[in-house]
Amino acid sequence: MNAQVSLSSGFVNGDVSFWYRASGVPSPGPRLDGDLQADVVIVGAGYTGLWTAYYLKQARPSLNVVVLEKDFAGFGASGRNGGWLTGDLAGSHQRYAATHGVEAARRLQREMYASIDEVIGVCEKEAIDADVVKGGVVNVARTPAQAARLRASVSAARAWGIEETDLRLVDPAERLRVTGAVAASWSPHCARVQPAKLVQGLARAVRELGVTVYERTPVTEIAPGRAVTPFGTVRARHVLRATEGFTSRLKGLRRQWLPMNSSLIVTEPLPASFWETVGWQGSELLGDMAHYYMYAQRTADDRIAFGGRGRPYLYGSRVDARGHTHERTVEALWELLIDFFPAAASSSVAHAWSGVLGVPRDWCSTVHVDPATGLGWAGGYTGHGVTTANLAGRTLRDLVVGERTALTELPWVGRRVRAWEPEPLRWLGVHAMYRLYRMADHRERSMPRTSALARVADLITGH
Ligand SMILES: Cc1cc2nc3c(=O)[nH]c(=O)nc-3n(C[C@H](O)[C@H](O)[C@H](O)COP(=O)(O)OP(=O)(O)OC[C@H]3O[C@@H](n4cnc5c(N)ncnc54)[C@H](O)[C@@H]3O)c2cc1C
Repeated sequence: MNAQVSLSSGFVNGDVSFWYRASGVPSPGPRLDGDLQADVVIVGAGYTGLWTAYYLKQARPSLNVVVLEKDFAGFGASGRNGGWLTGDLAGSHQRYAATHGVEAARRLQREMYASIDEVIGVCEKEAIDADVVKGGVVNVARTPAQAARLRASVSAARAWGIEETDLRLVDPAERLRVTGAVAASWSPHCARVQPAKLVQGLARAVRELGVTVYERTPVTEIAPGRAVTPFGTVRARHVLRATEGFTSRLKGLRRQWLPMNSSLIVTEPLPASFWETVGWQGSELLGDMAHYYMYAQRTADDRIAFGGRGRPYLYGSRVDARGHTHERTVEALWELLIDFFPAAASSSVAHAWSGVLGVPRDWCSTVHVDPATGLGWAGGYTGHGVTTANLAGRTLRDLVVGERTALTELPWVGRRVRAWEPEPLRWLGVHAMYRLYRMADHRERSMPRTSALARVADLITGH
């Protein structure tokens, strides 16, 4: 590998994400102007905040719900992600089972699968055109070690109620042909979405329900009964934090969820001959079994959006602002894309961008409302937030209105996790993990089993 990266003449780096390119990056709406009283104030207008507002207003139309957003609705990961509306759990089955039992972990898994259809159903009901197609997901293995991991993960899944109809091994060329694929799995539980269209459509739907979304309004302090901004304070019985990868920027929460960067490139539209060559005729999502994994989608306008890790973490839990992506990351993603699909070499990169997601110390997501203080939050989805945020929104609704439901009994509710280590340990740990993953991927090209280096990396970071 070492393909010269081919950038198209109109190449854009950053500017939030490619997903806003057709519509233009939204101009933020009105900011908060003075103090307010509400029933519920939500900090952050990504999927988590907006789904929560949506379901609260559906359940209790009389509730006064206010959302405060520091930039514009969909500025964060919700407007930048890879568009996998996936049924994969944001966390490990074993860890949820360790606290709540195997059956509870299975219930959470089933709710994840059901949440995909819930999102699709709301898109239909609210006329949100987010290019949604439930075409399933293919995961490929490109080395014997990856193939061994893939087989092991499919058989281990059975313990969590994931049946043959939910996930199975398939011929690596059955759905699409990735160069060098030696094994593959297939699951119907994944839909392709255009992330920004989904988040913008949701923002429109919640506004129509009577929720006010104040933009350009950064919250500087969250405390019981209030969210403080430079332009006024919103007082409310419930204050819900929906800031995922940005949480580390809030006072007192620097070590709560590690802000992990992920990056994507998108090609120019590819001709029909390309899609025939690779056999990618549906809207399947595509992932792999490398430690330094990739994720991809075929977009509605026939491009490949291809993502991976890039520069994973910035010292001191800093977060990058508008998605500018390091040159080396663009090159690395392009090289990998061409390695997967040599027939794409004649295309070029139209756009590159990055975003930030939240990773808890135990890599398991959480949703929580403290009935005593009225403070709540959801996040730490470790890169599986597109579907999980919907489940979080419905769960936060039940917790806020004080109803005990099947959702409030799920094992991720009220989960407590220890904080990440202080710097420089945090930086060293995360960078060691990625270095070891890269080395493990390299070594696995010539060995049949998972490299011990990857296990060391997992040990260091609790992955
Ligand atoms: C590049 C990338 C690819 C990804 N791909 C996938 C994928 O394919 N599938 C998947 O399931 N998940 C994916 N994820 C993860 C997923 O996108 C996120 O988990 C999900 O969007 C989180 O939604 P959220 O609403 O909780 O957070 P966000 O969408 O990040 O929203 C948080 C909002 O809070 C605002 N905010 C932050 N601080 C403040 C403050 N102090 N005051 C006011 N507002 C504030 C931010 O501006 C932002 O709009 C990806 C993430 C990234 C970055």
